[in-house]
Amino acid sequence: MAQINDGQAAGLLRRYGIRVTKSRTDILRFLIEASRPLSHAEIQEALPELDRVTLYRALSFFVEHEAAHQVQGPDGAWRFCAHSPNQDICPGNHPHFLCSSCGKMICLSDQRLARVDVPEGCEVEGKQFVVYGKCADCAGVIF
Ligand SMILES: [Zn+2]
Ligand SMILES: [Zn+2]
Ligand SMILES: [Zn+2]
Repeated sequence: MAQINDGQAAGLLRRYGIRVTKSRTDILRFLIEASRPLSHAEIQEALPELDRVTLYRALSFFVEHEAAHQVQGPDGAWRFCAHSPNQDICPGNHPHFLCSSCGKMICLSDQRLARVDVPEGCEVEGKQFVVYGKCADCAGVIF
């Protein structure tokens, strides 16, 4: 788990071209320290002083400015996560591992996702790549 302070989070926001506010700093810090994809509800629960609209706006802003990645969980809800720690420049995105047994989602390291040809005229808005199977905890369980 990566620990960062408010000053470092604010510095990152500036680097992504995002105006620094206390709520954005708190959200980015929380995403980086959690180091796994989190839903709106999970972030809201951890930062109850944030109002819903501010949280939704900050997250879509983060995605737009490439400060965060988003991925859809098995329940269909979007989850948000920070870039891989200790990686200066993100090469594009990162894939996720989904445990089909316990539902845990794990961020894999930042990497360029495969190029996919789409039909002519279609506009790509994002890409998600999810590898699924049993996480280490679940794979180790003997029933
Ligand atoms: Zn990234
Ligand atoms: Zn599992
Ligand atoms: Zn992730």
